[in-house]
Amino acid sequence: IMSKNKSRESVKVVVRCRPLNRKEEPNGPAGGIVQMDLRLGQVILRNPRAPPSEPQKTFTFDAVYDANSKQRDLYDESVRPLIDSVLAGFNGTIFAYGQTGTGKTYTMQGVWLDPEKRGVIPNAFDHIFTHISRSQSDKQYLVRASYLEIYREEIRDLLDPNHGSARGLELRESPETGVYVQDLTSCVCKSLKEIEEVMNVGNQARAVGATDMNEHSSRSHALFLITVECSQPGPDGRKHIRVGRLNLVDLAGSERQTKTGVQGDRLKEAAKINLSLSALGNVISALADGRSGHVPYRDSKLTRLLQDSLGGNAKTVMVATLGPASLHYDETLTTLRYANRAKNIQNQPRVNEDPKDALLREFQKEIARLRAQLNHRRWRSKQKKDQLEGEGWERDGDEETEGEEEEVEKEAEEYMKMEEQRLEKEKEAIREDQSMLAEEKQRLLGEKEKMMGDLRKQQEAAEQLTAKYKAMESKLLVGGKNIIDHTNEQQKMLEIKRQEIAEQTRGEREMQQQMLVQDEETLELKETFTSLQQEVEAKTKKLKKLYTKLQCIKAEIKDVNDEHVRSRQELEQTQNELTRELKLKYLIIENFIPPEEKNKIMNRLTFDPEEDQWKLKSLVPAERSEVVWIFFFHLSIYV
Ligand code: ADP
Ligand code: MG
Repeated sequence: IMSKNKSRESVKVVVRCRPLNRKEEPNGPAGGIVQMDLRLGQVILRNPRAPPSEPQKTFTFDAVYDANSKQRDLYDESVRPLIDSVLAGFNGTIFAYGQTGTGKTYTMQGVWLDPEKRGVIPNAFDHIFTHISRSQSDKQYLVRASYLEIYREEIRDLLDPNHGSARGLELRESPETGVYVQDLTSCVCKSLKEIEEVMNVGNQARAVGATDMNEHSSRSHALFLITVECSQPGPDGRKHIRVGRLNLVDLAGSERQTKTGVQGDRLKEAAKINLSLSALGNVISALADGRSGHVPYRDSKLTRLLQDSLGGNAKTVMVATLGPASLHYDETLTTLRYANRAKNIQNQPRVNEDPKDALLREFQKEIARLRAQLNHRRWRSKQKKDQLEGEGWERDGDEETEGEEEEVEKEAEEYMKMEEQRLEKEKEAIREDQSMLAEEKQRLLGEKEKMMGDLRKQQEAAEQLTAKYKAMESKLLVGGKNIIDHTNEQQKMLEIKRQEIAEQTRGEREMQQQMLVQDEETLELKETFTSLQQEVEAKTKKLKKLYTKLQCIKAEIKDVNDEHVRSRQELEQTQNELTRELKLKYLIIENFIPPEEKNKIMNRLTFDPEEDQWKLKSLVPAERSEVVWIFFFHLSIYV
């Protein structure tokens, strides 16, 4: 049952500008084209080609980070609250958007081995496991991680060693969890070390598939998913489970992929590479607009996977990354516009409480079952031992305390040893018995040997059961128990101070931004003037402000128009190329394939919108093999 208290909140958008690099330094003027007001959360962009009279473009965000910004500050101010929410059972998403080379991967991953340069993902790992190590012992946690990549509209599982050869994974939808990836590997992580290892394995898999990693990462989206389930007894005495899902997304480079001049497969490829990203743009526009009812989530894999994160049940942070070089003015402006639009998206995050598919519940049940089985076994052994020793029944076997359980375990082990010794002794006695016939001796010895074997098998089964139980139990992290928090008091104090400062910075910025809005609003108010002179001055000031605003909006309209024209031209070009290719295919089909063959095939083809593919129905009757689909061809049309 999901909790009812729905509250709306907008997507948080922060912007980060990386330092000028060595290549850019000699060309660009100092500081580049991007200026930032950290206190106000504003980015001021200068057009290097514009006449000085053109006003600079100003954008306001939840926070901005300049070339000197520290990874830690970005984390504490803009990411920490999101991860705290995930730990409380909310869905959370953080995605990095921007042109290739502007610092998406630096922001998300950073330099793992340098504590100062660790990015959002390692900091989030640390945050999650530290939180678990410091929580109450009545809380149980189960942490899982998955890692996938979307490349050319195919989903690849980065934790599955065979992902290279296998076909892409499919998306499915359930009313409980929304859209999910079918058969995606999910690794239970018991510690910081383990989840870092998962990330490592995935990063390596990502690099292996690519000939040029830079090129590949600029064309593919990487999604690292963490599910944190937490069970805690509620006031009703029953254990309640909260599930937080965290998506950490490093998007493909936002730069325009040029399709000019490419043909055939290369063209299809180029169209597919940016399909997810342009679909993301369309979804953001539709949501930000608020008026258009239809949101085209279904247009791409990425937008379907992020459906909850954009306009749904999630808290979302977008980090838009910029470069300071004047060379990339156009891309930088596009990124800022994109980010600016995303601010208007409203989400409805809610705590995911006791969902039906909580894995933690399954684990708890399985652990209880194994434990009952183990105890049953041990009690039987203990009973036998007591019988052997002629001890009477002192207590009932149904209820045991923790201490008694250990006692029983010890006695069960002792029983096994005693039995073994007893059998050994009996064998010895048989061997030494002179009165027995050799044949009889052999038979009796064989019997004892068999009993010995049974005993060993029993022992092995018990050991296996114990191992299974222990492995299962270790996957559940008990608050403050499985993981030891190594930070000392001083470090903890420092952490708290830093978080307080981050909180304060955030609050101050919010206040500054509110004051700015109020300033503009008071412009509209009717004022009373004591003299004509004063009125003229006030109105002139107002006029100037409004005139500047008008100029900005005019420039904006022109920019947006230009962009539209550009993308329309590109689409027309793509359409022309595809039409040409279609004509070729028609020509071949009409002239070289007998019409009756063609009709036979046509009648068996159906389009599967779920997989975005044409499928050929099998000739094998459906009842003999549950509908076998043969993948015939991969004809997808891009318009
Ligand atoms: P992207 O993932 O967006 O393509 P990268 O994260 O790979 O970009 O960054 C490109 C280069 O710039 C890398 O060498 C990275 O170390 C450097 N870089 C990016 N952002 C910063 C930053 N904020 N501070 C210092 N170096 C940065
Ligand atoms: Mg990158």
